[in-house]
Amino acid sequence: MAIVKPNVTPVKPGSSVLSGLSDLPGIGPALAKKIGALSGPRIADLLFHLPGGLIDRSLQPKVAELRPFSGKTATLSVAISSHAPPQKRGQPYKVLAHDDSGSMEIVFFHGRPEFWKKSLPQDSVRIISGKIEFFGRTPQMAHPDYIGKPEQLEFIKTIEPVYPLTESVSNKILRKALAEAFKRLPDFDEWLDSALVKSRGWDSFKTALEAAHHPQSEKDLDPSTMARQRLAYDEILANQLALHLIRMRHKKRVKNRARLPNFSLRKALLDLLPYQLTKAQLDAVSDIDQDMRSDKPMLRLLQGDVGSGKTIVAMLTMLNAIECGQQAALMAPTEILARQHLETLSPLAEKLGLNIAIMTGRDKGKGKATTQEKIAKGEADIVIGTHALLENPVQFKNLGLVVIDEQHRFGVEQRLGFMQKGAMTDTLVMSATPIPRSLFLAIFGDLDCSRLTEKPPGRKPIDTRLISLDRFDEVESALARALAAGQKIYWVCPLVEESQILDLAAAEDRFQHLKLKFKGQVGLVHGRMKAKDKDAAMQDFIAGKTKILVATTVIEVGVNVVDATIMVIDNAQRFGLAQLHQLRGRIGRGDRASTCLLLYKPDLSETAQKRLRIMRETEDGFRIAEEDLTLRGAGEVLGIRQSGLPDLKIADFWAHRDLWPIAQKDVKIILEQAPYLTGPRGKNLQKLLYLFGKDAAVNYLKSG
Ligand code: ADP
Ligand code: MG
Repeated sequence: MAIVKPNVTPVKPGSSVLSGLSDLPGIGPALAKKIGALSGPRIADLLFHLPGGLIDRSLQPKVAELRPFSGKTATLSVAISSHAPPQKRGQPYKVLAHDDSGSMEIVFFHGRPEFWKKSLPQDSVRIISGKIEFFGRTPQMAHPDYIGKPEQLEFIKTIEPVYPLTESVSNKILRKALAEAFKRLPDFDEWLDSALVKSRGWDSFKTALEAAHHPQSEKDLDPSTMARQRLAYDEILANQLALHLIRMRHKKRVKNRARLPNFSLRKALLDLLPYQLTKAQLDAVSDIDQDMRSDKPMLRLLQGDVGSGKTIVAMLTMLNAIECGQQAALMAPTEILARQHLETLSPLAEKLGLNIAIMTGRDKGKGKATTQEKIAKGEADIVIGTHALLENPVQFKNLGLVVIDEQHRFGVEQRLGFMQKGAMTDTLVMSATPIPRSLFLAIFGDLDCSRLTEKPPGRKPIDTRLISLDRFDEVESALARALAAGQKIYWVCPLVEESQILDLAAAEDRFQHLKLKFKGQVGLVHGRMKAKDKDAAMQDFIAGKTKILVATTVIEVGVNVVDATIMVIDNAQRFGLAQLHQLRGRIGRGDRASTCLLLYKPDLSETAQKRLRIMRETEDGFRIAEEDLTLRGAGEVLGIRQSGLPDLKIADFWAHRDLWPIAQKDVKIILEQAPYLTGPRGKNLQKLLYLFGKDAAVNYLKSG
């Protein structure tokens, strides 16, 4: 049945919660940026930044009731007796206080006396809240979390939610910002199915959000609470709805769409290759051929472990388009990877008589103009680029296919959204993250997917070892021996990010250390470096000018240095398993035996050890992904963002796994009834999409 597209004007949820954080009173652009780095840039994003803990300040004992239990938080109402500045250097500044039951001290080890004199004036009554410690028999509170006047008692004496923070944003700042954000939050009409809400016993969106931000006990922080389930469902629904809206467009038939490649180029390419395609590669190619023969645009995901040979499948797909007189684009997440694709594909393209061009954010001036012209005139058959190519669209003469490599760096549905802006191109998305099948179905439904489940023959297994950081010296001597034997080594450190704790072995520190030990042989590459310097460091390593490459996870995807045989992963416990697996895939590419050393912090928890042991047991990416999912449970890990799944703020893949299929059914019904989200519920759902930042999907309603 043909669907007639009505004239749709998108319905926004009252722009106030969609605007930037600096719209909130008391938040300037600088602070908005700091908070935004944490929660996301919009007021709505802040509202979805849920607490991860709580501090109970509701306990309000008398001074005499304080007991020498260490570290318990209490709120007290005390009179300030006097100030006692330090007599000697190194002593704390003390403020003596009392109530009718006894006396105590408020202690400061650093800071400004004028400030304490002002906030704790002698003879005044003040509310203080913080941790109680005992100094001999005297109760003390060092650096109270809160100091307030008596009328602020109720504000202070609460159960305080504690948010995930960065160094530059305190909990107090975040609480204040959230209080303002809540003032902006309207009461929305219900967008969920009323029967579902009723059967689940859920509250309204606003009530649930308020509850999630005001936990009364540890229990309330669990993903299984009613409030968090409701919000998770909202997010999952928005996610699924967005995905389906975009796919609907791709599923539309387009007249004269079907293309019939004659496979002349393919034959020539296969003759050039020194190997046979694997069965899995052949199957994937055959799926793709089918797609291209159909009159609907292709939207296919090609999933395959690192090293499973996706690149050649991409090349064959591009040849299909070129044989039909079209151009093909190959998109990589980083400059390094784009250049690497160019290096791999150029010799092949040349032998096939094809013209290949590269276009990245770094290309400027005259060179850029020349390339643009080549693309616009249709002289470039294959255009390799970074996502800059998508963001500042280049004019193609006749773009027929876009291949997106390593899509997890992009964020799936945003990128799919991108595609519908341009011409009606075929899209092949390649992912190196083996997502377990069950989870894949739950998240992506029946999105077309081909999987490269077998690796090209002849790979040597990687010897993976777990080594405690206690034994750092041994690692160093082993590396010295390996270097002497002419081997190349990756040394990967956890990402340096503001939000992460300082005790991490930051790449810079490690670099300095190793440089001393292995003079002239160590290079460094990390995300904060300029693209030019990054490339130079990579090139030095590839060329063998450096033998050890210290890196953050920028090397995670795709980079191919065939003769690197050792991978050291520093503080391996900080990484998600899927990410460790990806990293390990960087070695074992040549015909020499390879070793992966997972260095871990000595006092690892049982779970953490279990996780790392899985890495030693198997190289099967699908199994590792499955285990990762089971073990990490409620998103304990850094890695979820890098794991190839959509970026979620509230929902948890594992804890909320029962909600995904419900949302899928829900979406089907919604779109059957109102494919363009018209009608009262449709309009409410549009607001939901906006709230979760799915603007691209709503725009699709407009642009048809
Ligand atoms: P990825 O899936 O990680 O992108 P690549 O496409 O980079 O993997 O392939 C890894 C390596 O395997 C490349 O050097 C490639 O030439 C080689 N390769 C790909 N397919 C085969 C095959 N069928 N037989 C042997 N080697 C192959
Ligand atoms: Mg690749």
